[in-house]
Amino acid sequence: MARMRAMVCEAAGRPLAARERERPQPRQGEVLVAVSACGVCRTDLHLVDGELPQARLPVVPGHEIVGTVAACGAGVTSLAPGVRVGVPWLGWTCGRCDACRRGLENLCAEAQFTGCTRDGGYAEFAVADARYVFPLPERYDDLAAAPLLCAGLIGYRAYAMAGDARTIGLYGFGAAAHLIAQVALHEGRRVLAFTRPGDAAGQAFARALGVHWAGDSTAAAPEPLDAALLFAPVGALVPAALAAVRPGGLVVCAGIHMSDIPAFAYRLLWEERSVRSVANLTRADAQAFLALAGRVPLAVHACAYPLAAANRALDDLRHGRVEGAAVLTMHGDRASNRS
Ligand SMILES: [Zn+2]
Ligand SMILES: [Zn+2]
Repeated sequence: MARMRAMVCEAAGRPLAARERERPQPRQGEVLVAVSACGVCRTDLHLVDGELPQARLPVVPGHEIVGTVAACGAGVTSLAPGVRVGVPWLGWTCGRCDACRRGLENLCAEAQFTGCTRDGGYAEFAVADARYVFPLPERYDDLAAAPLLCAGLIGYRAYAMAGDARTIGLYGFGAAAHLIAQVALHEGRRVLAFTRPGDAAGQAFARALGVHWAGDSTAAAPEPLDAALLFAPVGALVPAALAAVRPGGLVVCAGIHMSDIPAFAYRLLWEERSVRSVANLTRADAQAFLALAGRVPLAVHACAYPLAAANRALDDLRHGRVEGAAVLTMHGDRASNRS
């Protein structure tokens, strides 16, 4: 049996374990993907911290998979060996339930999630349902394409919720915000970046991408926002963002987990402000965002780590030491930072 290397989440609160595993086989309707890169997402931190009750341990994390199709299971006609593809968070849905039939497959109660309820991409190979796998725009190399698959996709779903908002605040300027800021600027919006207090490097990074203002999340917004997108998992940002949006404005919480939201005065919600969350993604979101990323050249800032250094990548992400996105690479020792 062919073997592969994988980093495995075996128990919450413990580092990932380096394991040799049997290479998985694609079943009916599935493809085997030879992984070349896999993004490291904040959700992976919530997974290893035991904050995702839906997780099925042991599991290989990783839901920003870039690779090439190595083999197709029976019945797969949409993909062929050799095609470069991306595998995102949404791994499978039932297709029959009320949510699925209403175009809200992201809310399917039976949905399976890559790197959470199915093995993901912190490994040399992964299997995926061919219907939830997407060819990638050629303009991005493997390292740059990986963050598009969650930071980009779910960031884009959150951004789309903001509708025609002219002035958008991004709270937490990491992998998702650095991509969505570029999309919003391309579409002529005003973009304000709010970072953790005192994060001068993060604010400089945001300004270098062209945002109109960057400052501390504890500072008052310099102008009223039409919408605020929260990418940092900090509940205290919800009342802060509500205070920054104009009457009728919207606050979108884009993370899968957030610390508790402190009680706040009703006047912050008054005047038809609203708060909502974004959960998961649909295949339509993936198609829309990847098509956009093919048209609009996004500068992807990715820090590469070898697969075996997955725990270090998670630690750097936890402590805010990653500018842009952390990405595991399966080939070579390209462990140096790059942009
Ligand atoms: Zn993610
Ligand atoms: Zn369903």
